[in-house]
Amino acid sequence: MTERTDSRRPAGANAPALLIAGCLLVSTAVATQTRVTSASVTLFEGARLIAGDGSTPIERSAFLVDNNRFTRVGRAGAIELPAGAARIDLTGKTVIPALIDAHSHIGYMKDLTSGPQNYTRENILDHLHRFAYHGVAASQAMGSDFGDLPYQLRDEIQSGTYPEAARFLSAGRGLAPPDEVRPDNMRHSAYAIRTEADARRAVRELAARKVTIVKTWVDDRGGSIRALAPNLYGAILDEAHKQNMRVAVHATGLADAKGLLQAGIDIFAHMIADVDDELVALFAQHPRTSVLLALGGPRRTIYAPWIDPPHPLVVETVSPKQIERLRNRLAGARPDALAQGRASWERLASGIRRLNAAGVRIGVGTDGGGQTGDQFVGWTMHTEMENMVAAGMTPAQVLVAATRTSAEILGLDELGMVAAGKSADFVVLDANPLDDITNSRKIASVYLRGKQVDRARLRAAWDGGGRAN
Ligand SMILES: [Zn+2]
Repeated sequence: MTERTDSRRPAGANAPALLIAGCLLVSTAVATQTRVTSASVTLFEGARLIAGDGSTPIERSAFLVDNNRFTRVGRAGAIELPAGAARIDLTGKTVIPALIDAHSHIGYMKDLTSGPQNYTRENILDHLHRFAYHGVAASQAMGSDFGDLPYQLRDEIQSGTYPEAARFLSAGRGLAPPDEVRPDNMRHSAYAIRTEADARRAVRELAARKVTIVKTWVDDRGGSIRALAPNLYGAILDEAHKQNMRVAVHATGLADAKGLLQAGIDIFAHMIADVDDELVALFAQHPRTSVLLALGGPRRTIYAPWIDPPHPLVVETVSPKQIERLRNRLAGARPDALAQGRASWERLASGIRRLNAAGVRIGVGTDGGGQTGDQFVGWTMHTEMENMVAAGMTPAQVLVAATRTSAEILGLDELGMVAAGKSADFVVLDANPLDDITNSRKIASVYLRGKQVDRARLRAAWDGGGRAN
């Protein structure tokens, strides 16, 4: 409070102290002291603005950022430049809210390897900077985390220690049927759930870590394992809801999906393989249940023009060996595998069209950073949005899914929209993604918490996909 009192004094003898106070404080009392806050207030003018809520874009917008918040949003000319504030001309650009990836696996992938041996502070932070580089403000790791590290990093990022990193949300250790838990996969850290007591104990441990979304697997993996039984996922759901947590599930089978909807599941982390009338009716009875699609895996085999030649964003962030490996894998796909890939994609796409037409809440979760090593961290956000449009959603719907809806799904009240009061996290694009969703890749600049991310510095440190630190 003493700084605030100081800042109200007439400018004069104590000027350096006033500047320091102005940088540190966010308050209306300080905001009126334009000499103090001038460096932290910026008017962005002239861009086409897509606000994130599906409203008609403002063709020539203006918005004011004070420190880390949007304070006013409107048309160019309607918002005056506050005395002493900076002005940035965005004429010809398009602004969207920073994107949100609601399903990822953070810290595993590193060059040609992917596994728990790579799960270090350095590698997790590297991934969170890759998300930021791609315009992603927050990423939810889905059940592959372990130890104290994810919670420490989550809290450090939240408190501002790494201002250029995307926010890190962690589901901690997931809850899996015992057959899923093996040392060589991303369930190695999962709780093996054999009894309802196991389920409740695990959920309570996660609640103590302030986890908000619990991840579980309910899938027999094509009949190769015993799926988690309904009484066990029922116990997970019941305990999580008692703890004010939500549950995300890996379940792609139609029968499992119906059972989970009836039991009150909150989030499907993957698209369900088949959709029928009964499933659509169950979604109508559970309108708060969300579906993340994770289409990269199913579609990459049959459609990945961005790898040959590699898109500039891929060249800038992925090692040449990783690019080469994916190209070889795709080139080596056998005709029967391609035919099967096309058939399963058509099935998924027709199901997505049905759910979308029925108004089911669809967010964006990419499964980026996953085990195969081909789900390039950050980049998958952009291919996922393209895949969603290819499945039959409009670019406008996909942009809402990737911003406001995904923020809601993750409980991130301050993200997902360019609107007064929200955190100033946004992406400046060179072209309009409503015309062509792949324009989301034409990134001019990224702002997180009101500050521009130094993408050139990150890019230089990666030096064509190498390490950032
Ligand atoms: Zn996953």
